[in-house]
Amino acid sequence: MNRVLVLGGGQLGLMMAEAAARLGLVVDRYDPERALLLPGTSDLAVPITWEECLERYPVVTVEREAFPDSGLSARLAASDRCVARGALAVIPDRYTQKSMLDELGIATAPWRNLDRVEDLADAAAEFGGVVVKARSGGYDGRGTWIVGDGGDLSAVPAEELAGRAIVEKKIPFRRELSIVGARNPAGETLFYPLTRNWHVDGILRLSLAPANASAALQPEAENILRRIMEKLDYAGVMAVEFFEEDGRLLVNEIAPRVHNSGHWTHEGADWSQFDLHVHALAGVPLHSLNVHGPSAMVNLIGTPFDQAWLQHPGVVHWYGKSVRPGRKVGHANLVAPTLEGLRKGLNAWADVLPEGFEAILDSELALD
Ligand code: ATP
Ligand code: MG
Ligand code: MG
Repeated sequence: MNRVLVLGGGQLGLMMAEAAARLGLVVDRYDPERALLLPGTSDLAVPITWEECLERYPVVTVEREAFPDSGLSARLAASDRCVARGALAVIPDRYTQKSMLDELGIATAPWRNLDRVEDLADAAAEFGGVVVKARSGGYDGRGTWIVGDGGDLSAVPAEELAGRAIVEKKIPFRRELSIVGARNPAGETLFYPLTRNWHVDGILRLSLAPANASAALQPEAENILRRIMEKLDYAGVMAVEFFEEDGRLLVNEIAPRVHNSGHWTHEGADWSQFDLHVHALAGVPLHSLNVHGPSAMVNLIGTPFDQAWLQHPGVVHWYGKSVRPGRKVGHANLVAPTLEGLRKGLNAWADVLPEGFEAILDSELALD
């Protein structure tokens, strides 16, 4: 294999292409919205046909779950060249994703389909607090409605959602964790340590790794991700988001791709998740990983580039996208020899970031 095509024109594919360039491999990107090929890390777009794709790209990977119904990306995502093909048949629809987890006996938030409007009140009666999620198309908390126990269900557009949403029990979790790992076509796997994640309004703000998780959780998390990757005959990096409740893991959702909560690996490990993804696709044996001291990743959201960031400890990764409210436009990674050092570094960042981040540091940043 010398060329991989990644479906998607966003920052995840761009970071894969950067990793590939360093590793002597080529990852080109296909922007499905513009139906154009972006060679490597360049933004000089060119048209490409199905025949050219077959000739040039023995391996196709993805940086997201959903593609326009028609067009080359959908065709490639469904082709046997696509290493995420099995995952794309199951994961983009929360109903089939949760059904697979049930089938595998992997614990998730209790759930049911929102088929009829009445199902919402029934679920609230059964679960107390509920989280309604559109079956497909949601991300960064869009397509998600959270209603606490006894809360106002009329805030959920149930009529509109009937037949195309699920309702989950609202989990009073202690923490949100995630695991990122890779599998190559030979079936070898490799995992990063569990990462702790803080979300505000459904958007990931801060990740910290390794999460100070009990020794039992890491093997459990690895086992869950390994079984999912095997079930889907997957190659590349995949992530699983968890709720930790009463010392056990409940799967929140699966991401069949490199994941925002794995961005700390850029500076926090010898091989980043993007390196690992490209390695896995190239069939390179997955050897062990060296993870550096405690690491934090701060998402830069809806904010213009600020040179003040460069005065602070940490490494800024800017995606070069136009800035819109709630849009992820970059991230900054901090690595320190101790948790105390990391906390100091994060406090410095709180001064130069928009609201939201500070609230996490004030209220919660017990780094355990
Ligand atoms: P992502 O950007 O991670 O793809 P998403 O839009 O697909 O997000 P989820 O990850 O399902 O949505 O939910 C977003 C956030 O909402 C979660 O990280 C968590 O903070 C909260 N949440 C989701 N489901 C539940 C639940 N069942 N109980 C409690 N909180 C929940
Ligand atoms: Mg999601
Ligand atoms: Mg999520």
